Amino acid sequence: MSDLRERALDLLQTIFGYPAFRGQQAEIVDTLANGGDALVLMPTGGGKSLCYQIPALLRDGVGVVVSPLIALMQDQVDALAEVGVRAAFLNSTQNWQQASRIEQQVRDGELDLLYVAPERLLTPRCMELLESSKIALFAIDEAHCVSQWGHDFRPEYIRLSILHERFPNVPRIALTATADQQTREEIARRLQLEEGRQFVSSFDRPNIRYQIVEKGNGRKQLLDFIEAEHPEDAGVVYCLSRKKVEEVAEFLNQNGRSALAYHAGMDLETRTANQARFLREEGIVMVATIAFGMGIDKPDVRFVAHLDLPKSIEGYYQETGRAGRDGAPANAWMAYGLQDVVQQRRMIDESEADETYKRIQGQKLDAMLGLCETIGCRRVRLLSYFGQESGPCGNCDTCLHPPVSYDATVPVQKLLSAVYRVDQRFGAGHVMDVLRGIDSDKVKQWKHDQLSVFGVGSETGEAEWRAILRQVIALGLLTVDHDSYNALKLTAEAKPVLRGERQIQLRRYEKPVKQKRSASAKPRGYVEADLSRSEQEIFEKLRWWRVETARAHNVPAYVIFHDATMREIAKAKPLSLDDLRGVSGVGEKKLQTYGEEIVALIAELV
Ligand code: ADP
Ligand code: ZN
Repeated sequence: MSDLRERALDLLQTIFGYPAFRGQQAEIVDTLANGGDALVLMPTGGGKSLCYQIPALLRDGVGVVVSPLIALMQDQVDALAEVGVRAAFLNSTQNWQQASRIEQQVRDGELDLLYVAPERLLTPRCMELLESSKIALFAIDEAHCVSQWGHDFRPEYIRLSILHERFPNVPRIALTATADQQTREEIARRLQLEEGRQFVSSFDRPNIRYQIVEKGNGRKQLLDFIEAEHPEDAGVVYCLSRKKVEEVAEFLNQNGRSALAYHAGMDLETRTANQARFLREEGIVMVATIAFGMGIDKPDVRFVAHLDLPKSIEGYYQETGRAGRDGAPANAWMAYGLQDVVQQRRMIDESEADETYKRIQGQKLDAMLGLCETIGCRRVRLLSYFGQESGPCGNCDTCLHPPVSYDATVPVQKLLSAVYRVDQRFGAGHVMDVLRGIDSDKVKQWKHDQLSVFGVGSETGEAEWRAILRQVIALGLLTVDHDSYNALKLTAEAKPVLRGERQIQLRRYEKPVKQKRSASAKPRGYVEADLSRSEQEIFEKLRWWRVETARAHNVPAYVIFHDATMREIAKAKPLSLDDLRGVSGVGEKKLQTYGEEIVALIAELV
């Protein structure tokens, strides 16, 4: 082992308390420590932070971390202080005096890491500061913010190429969890990282179980899911509109869960307070629009639920990725229905953007719909979207309960003919009435009971027709015309089906069933099950201890110790500081700070 590697490993063990590097971490650390540049793509929870924290400690000077996530900087700095790393941040939440003090520390070389928001970094004052200080490296976090096509675009990120121009000898590392090939190239180009090494990890998050269910009464289904699988866990529920966010949060509160709302329409103070509670307290459900969450660092989010369809697979992957950062089992659950397809298509049609943009958005939506309607493994689909091949995962709904597909050519032909026979002037409800032979007032008024298609689909129930219709719209055989009362219209793609030249396979409708809490519902490899009864008791005691300690230090609980570390402690039952030192996640500083308390607590229980 090279000398540098040895020192890196020593820091990993003594400061962070981890026995070994994971995946490509060691190589990335090497690259940076030796002065090279890197572009790192690693899924959430993969361990990106250590990739710049350790080289920053290995090199002379301060490591400057550029991050758009001002709200998280305090926690990040606190977490580093807990392990004995000298870190600080500069952002708009500080007054002049506070900022000046930190600037002085930077000049005096008293900091290992400095977190800065991009707009702050680009100010002349900050540039001068950095030019008069010793810089170990630049880390550009959430680097996909540089992409103009992405949904987190930040104009200031584009100007970050200045770092390369002004500090040609300082190594730079850009990190992101979301990037297809195109975004990756965009990051490299815009940040002038073409010369740097690229480290691309697998996108897979094996601990996340993906489930997409047919939407009936979405809120009720959500509640059933939470009650069955996550009665005490923290989670995030995503909704499209602010109004729905507030309604769902209230609904959950009425049903016995502590739920908070978060959306861009709330005042900043309430939003910040809600986020802080979510991070600090245990078992809170955050109901939010996508305004919530970029870089949510809470490692023990056990589920992410979607009550509305995300606009793209990138969005879905990023949002669901906030579950299970700690590597323990987590659920990504979504309820999806006809209305989602119609609504999302409408949003694209009605947007003011140019045609190219609309076309790209349309393609992204189609890919997302493909994921919802697939009869194959969800994970295979998801990973292949990011260009990665894999086999069936055994940890998604379609693997666990394979859906039935069937040749639906005849019912689809009936549906398309009905649309045609009513002159493409009526919406879904009316078309289904005609198919099912229901003589509503409207049917009678337009004499549609005299059409040849009237009642040809009476053997099929309404829910099933909706499922067919949804899939037919998702496949692009029908569109919904928002300019004329949501009338269904045939597309060019419908013709070969009507002529009998194209067969259509669909996913069989399944009645939503109430989820039951069962042993088999626990995701694979669930760690809690490894604990014996007495160990479980120790774990619970440790949790209490952690709640109190976190409160006393005014930091989130996971900053003290992660659940995984506490489970290991419960198993190892250390009776001396030396025993405790061997536990993953316990570094020297934490050993000093908490070691005695923990050993005493264990001694009392064993
Ligand atoms: P990311 O930023 O990629 O989402 P983090 O840097 O927050 O991920 O790391 C995710 C979790 O994994 C953290 O709790 C971190 O402490 C832990 N971790 C990272 N690297 C290692 C390692 N080599 N061994 C054990 N745990 C690790
Ligand atoms: Zn699968």
